[in-house]
Amino acid sequence: MEQPLFLEEGKMTAEVYLLSATKATQNKYTYAVKEEIAGKILPGVICYVPFGGGNRKTQAVVWNVNPEDNGKNLKYKIKEISEVCDNFRPLSNEEMLLAERMSEFYFSPLGNCARCLIPPEGNKGREVRFAKLTMPVSEVDSLCREDRFRNISQVKVLQYLKDCGGSAQIGEIMKDLSCSESPVKTLAKNKFIEIYTEKITQEDEWVKAVEYPAMKLTEEQNNAFDKIKAMLSENKLSECLVHGVTGSGKTELYLRLIEHVISEGSQAIMLVPEISLTPQMEARFTGRFGNRVTVLHSRLSNSARNRRWEKIASGEVSVALGARSAVFAPFKNLKLIILDEEQELTYKSEEQEPHYHAAEIAKLRLENDGGVILYGSATPRLETFYRAKRRDIGYVRLAERVNAKPLPRVEIVNMRDELDVGVKGMFSRKLISEIENNLNAGKKSLIFVHRRGFSGNVICTDCGKSFKCRHCNIPMTYHSKTGRLICHYCGNTATVPEVCPSCGGKKFDKRSFGTEKAESELQKLFPSAKIVRMDADTTSGREGHLKVIENFTRDGDILLGTQMIAKGHDFPDVTLVGVVSCDSLINFNDYRASERTFQLLTQVAGRAGRGSEPGRVIFQALDVDNYSLNAACSQDYFKFFETEIKLRESLYFPPFCVMTVIGFIGRDDRGTFEYGRECRKALSETAAKMKGAEVLNILRANVQKLAGKYRWRIIMKTATREDALELLKNTKFPKQPGGVASVITDIAPGNMF
Ligand code: ADP
Ligand code: ZN
Repeated sequence: MEQPLFLEEGKMTAEVYLLSATKATQNKYTYAVKEEIAGKILPGVICYVPFGGGNRKTQAVVWNVNPEDNGKNLKYKIKEISEVCDNFRPLSNEEMLLAERMSEFYFSPLGNCARCLIPPEGNKGREVRFAKLTMPVSEVDSLCREDRFRNISQVKVLQYLKDCGGSAQIGEIMKDLSCSESPVKTLAKNKFIEIYTEKITQEDEWVKAVEYPAMKLTEEQNNAFDKIKAMLSENKLSECLVHGVTGSGKTELYLRLIEHVISEGSQAIMLVPEISLTPQMEARFTGRFGNRVTVLHSRLSNSARNRRWEKIASGEVSVALGARSAVFAPFKNLKLIILDEEQELTYKSEEQEPHYHAAEIAKLRLENDGGVILYGSATPRLETFYRAKRRDIGYVRLAERVNAKPLPRVEIVNMRDELDVGVKGMFSRKLISEIENNLNAGKKSLIFVHRRGFSGNVICTDCGKSFKCRHCNIPMTYHSKTGRLICHYCGNTATVPEVCPSCGGKKFDKRSFGTEKAESELQKLFPSAKIVRMDADTTSGREGHLKVIENFTRDGDILLGTQMIAKGHDFPDVTLVGVVSCDSLINFNDYRASERTFQLLTQVAGRAGRGSEPGRVIFQALDVDNYSLNAACSQDYFKFFETEIKLRESLYFPPFCVMTVIGFIGRDDRGTFEYGRECRKALSETAAKMKGAEVLNILRANVQKLAGKYRWRIIMKTATREDALELLKNTKFPKQPGGVASVITDIAPGNMF
């Protein structure tokens, strides 16, 4: 082990933060600076330091330097900074301030916040090895949940690849996760990933886009344009919801506003949920802006990404298009940030600290110098619409489809009636006959099967209702091991009642439906139909889902799939959409289940009738009276909102409170729980002194065990976000014992931990 050293007279020290810190290593650390690199050590510079007992080479960011400190105020011996990472652009002053704001805002280690702002390390043209998922990114989470991996590094690699959109350089994976190559090798051996080699060159992007000329705006678009232009001319932060159905011309509106912003010498960021799923958006942006736009793909090599980042910083381009992390694009005079499909969960960073949402970062970035944030959606988050309704943020509505295409005809089929007449399978008589009509007419159909989570519900087959928690109104989850129902929010448990509390019925349904079962049923019903299945097993690699779609578009009759068929892609010839079981959406154990149901069903329905023919949509359900289902059926956002917002208010759920999750992860199940319970006690004591603060029971997390580590969580509710931070700050957490690996805090979480 390297000996720590005493400093000589007049020697310089620097204070640094580790880039991947935990709550236990988030402090500012003082290091000595060698003469040779003293000139390079400035605030914002990225460097390597020896850290911990083993002096592991660790990346850190310099925060302050003390030129003639010589360490005389220190009570302990200090080590030296090893070297400067020349490949990184140092953080600017504003970026350091942003990182500091983020650290406060997210109660998260400062170094990790700074890390969000640093582009990946560049490299020279050479052969580089990549790892690529053999499944679509959307399936990674459920795979990890299955607890097949004994080694956490393997899970981390999978999650990392997910965050990168499916593939990444192996060197980068090892560096970013501080791991060896062995988890990558093991994953490749077990066929979860593939390894391939690619030549990386310095060659840059060449925009060879087809021009996409501006169109004369419709009256609605024009009014929206004027309103938002007026917001841009004020020198303050404004937010505005752009509420418009698909095809109402939102994208054209964005393009025009961006053009305006550029013409005034400012810059804009366009965010989309997943860049690989939006080739159309990319074509329009490059077709309109040519070399003035840069696209931040997830599939870019690090060096290419780094160069594009440089072009942004140097002002060579004025527009950036990309997914969540593009919100950090280092423009100097940023005036407009747009989140398209703002309700999508991908805008929230789930796995790593800080758990930021792109919309929050957008606000932090624009709050000093002013600018506009647009939230575009046909089905906005409830919070966003609520804020628009209270006039906290602006609102523009695009109600008409530009090409006046009619909305599809939607119908609900009651599956209880089917059970009554002895239909045992997943498909109703109505849906079967509609598929048959389509087959005879040579038209395509799309069948949506919701992939069940890891736990199920119990539904009364007489009234279609599932059992809900008395306190939270959240559907309770059935645990087959104990035969009991449990509320995953408050921990309330119950036995399965003999009779349904809603209607007195005595027959219950606990079945779950998967895509494979649906496929075999369909194939039996329609032996000559070409059925294309789209799920984890049929789509492999990043381009995998594209292949499936091509296959379906070429000569498929029925596309059968999960969540992923709801988004992104256009299927011109689809005239029929069927949803097999809306109940599994409705009864998901999250307070946002109704909101998600409405959003997803509206999106799925929108898949029908994109071509010249009007579409037909069939929703199969047991709980046919459900309001989110019915609102989706009539495509009525306002009706849905009115019902849902009242429920949220009466149950003290967001947007009427802010929810925070504190997660405890550790190998020692008992110890992790005990520690969590002590923390809960400490939090409750602080909460007791605050108005509107509640700390719920400690419970097993939704994902109870991951990679050999047990997971527990506490949910807190506070009146505001500031209260959440105050509660966290004013609580003295007990010391973390050995068996507990980490504690995470996620304010306003996306998926429940
Ligand atoms: P959204 O983003 O709301 O789904 P788009 O911007 O993609 O809607 O517009 C839907 C279609 O209408 C696109 O094909 C687009 O080219 C076209 N479009 C949009 N605005 C106009 C306009 N003002 N005049 C003619 N066509 C338009
Ligand atoms: Zn409950």
